[in-house]
Amino acid sequence: MTRRRASYRSLASLQRDNRACRACAEAGFPLESLPVLEGRAGQRAMIVGQAPGVVEGEERRPWRGRAGRTLRGWLEPDEEAFYETFYCVSVTRCYPGRHAAGRGDRPATPAEMELCAFWLDWELRLLRPRLVLLVGGLAVRRLLGPARLTECIGARYALGDAVAIPLPHPSGASAWLNEAANRERLARALALVREELAAV
Ligand code: SF4
Repeated sequence: MTRRRASYRSLASLQRDNRACRACAEAGFPLESLPVLEGRAGQRAMIVGQAPGVVEGEERRPWRGRAGRTLRGWLEPDEEAFYETFYCVSVTRCYPGRHAAGRGDRPATPAEMELCAFWLDWELRLLRPRLVLLVGGLAVRRLLGPARLTECIGARYALGDAVAIPLPHPSGASAWLNEAANRERLARALALVREELAAV
């Protein structure tokens, strides 16, 4: 049974309730994992992804599959240092299952994103990160509003007191990185990430 308090004073109690959340299943959406998130109070950098994949759902740990290996290669190849540096969450936190058409994973619906926004809003309030990496168009739009990847990769934005830096999704499902100009945008974004990480 999903429990959401009117307010939270610690990330530990928020995470305890989040890890038991079944709000989307209770609303009738098919989910194929329990919530996936990892982080602790005191981390100053956060990664917001789109949704966990099948591997993450099984391990209940973010960024464990192929996309995760690519992202860690971009940011912090050392696995331990990656999880030590970044508080890792996503717009929706349960593996949504395969797409009915058989290609890739089912995209979470706007209603599921709305149900899950509660957890991210509270995390931002309690963690107060200095740097937020938005991985993929869905995470970018959730926190920055309508934006095209081509326009925002390589730029940094204010997100409350934090700096937000958009990144493309590393899954390889999109052809966006096939273009040389987009790979240059990614290189600029990663340079910004290194600069901001040095400051936090
Ligand atoms: S996706 Fe988010 S809101 Fe939906 S059940 Fe999972 S944790 Fe809860």
